Amino acid sequence: MELVGHCRVCGTAVYCKGGFLDGVSDGGALYCHACFEEADGGQADDGGAGRGKSADRVDGS
Ligand SMILES: [Zn+2]
Repeated sequence: MELVGHCRVCGTAVYCKGGFLDGVSDGGALYCHACFEEADGGQADDGGAGRGKSADRVDGS
């Protein structure tokens, strides 16, 4: 796990885990997931309301 930098918004440390960035690098700025989703409006590409929500991601079986 390697420290990449800090979230531009909240200052949370953002690490690289096994080649995966545990955050979002956007135009040279670094964000944690929470701040990036907030900055993004949180409703960009999920088709809005009507289907899914977070239950869609629960993989119980
Ligand atoms: Zn943040």
